[in-house]
Amino acid sequence: MRALAAVAVLLVLAAVSRADVIKLKSGEVIEGDVVAETEDSVTIRTGSGTIKMTTTYRRDTIESVTREETPARRAEALAAAVKKGDPASYRAAIAALREVGRAADADRLQAELDAVELEAWKAAHAGRLCPECKGDKALPCKACGGKGSARVTGLCETCRGTGRIVCPDCRGAMKGPCRGGCFKEDTQKTVTGPDGKRYDLTIKKGMILVRRGMGEWYQACPKCNMTCVAPCETCRATGQVACPDCQGKGVREVKAKCAACEGKCRVPCAACGGTGLKGEAGGGKTDEQQR
Ligand SMILES: [Zn+2]
Ligand SMILES: [Zn+2]
Ligand SMILES: [Zn+2]
Ligand SMILES: [Zn+2]
Ligand SMILES: [Zn+2]
Repeated sequence: MRALAAVAVLLVLAAVSRADVIKLKSGEVIEGDVVAETEDSVTIRTGSGTIKMTTTYRRDTIESVTREETPARRAEALAAAVKKGDPASYRAAIAALREVGRAADADRLQAELDAVELEAWKAAHAGRLCPECKGDKALPCKACGGKGSARVTGLCETCRGTGRIVCPDCRGAMKGPCRGGCFKEDTQKTVTGPDGKRYDLTIKKGMILVRRGMGEWYQACPKCNMTCVAPCETCRATGQVACPDCQGKGVREVKAKCAACEGKCRVPCAACGGTGLKGEAGGGKTDEQQR
């Protein structure tokens, strides 16, 4: 009884603090979010706000790990536990995934469930299935080859069809800092002159150091004429460059939803009117109405 009570207390504590708890054999207790668990170790993230820290503990130093059940983890567990012959397990997982905003995973499971249920329906209607779609009720869309999307030529969004974008190097200013290696500020420097003697010099803004004779000297930057500003080479001082996304053409192939199937990849079978059954096209009685 005492052991049970201790477990209950621990669970309550975990629920109240809304955190996972690692209890070490040393007696230390760490609260946080368990972000990874392996056979050999458990990794927990601790702290709050912008100060967060991740620490990994070896299993052989750990007494116990108590993980809080969050909706996200519940959804994760339900998704991992779906069984092919158990539609209810799928529905529970799909609902839980949607609740925590994992629509893509929910859609994937929904598609699996639909396929399983269709197979069951087909088995129950064997011998009466539409020969065209073999009971699938739908056929792959011919317009898009079943891909759900089509490539169409459209205006390039990056450059709005102009084929040109603002130069990324000078942002349209057409000029930028000189890249000729000139000093951008007046700079004190001790240099060895052409005569081999040492000189303390103030090298003026717009000058460059050059080797001359036995040592170094300085002269006006030939690239910028001592202004430290040079025409932008990237855009040849036009302020614009060819749009990289359309190679300057202004138009490019963009992916668009297939209009024929509205992106669903499949269209209802025309032979059976989407009922999946033989001779049911043209408003005949559906399976449901016959019962
Ligand atoms: Zn059909
Ligand atoms: Zn430029
Ligand atoms: Zn220069
Ligand atoms: Zn473009
Ligand atoms: Zn299509």
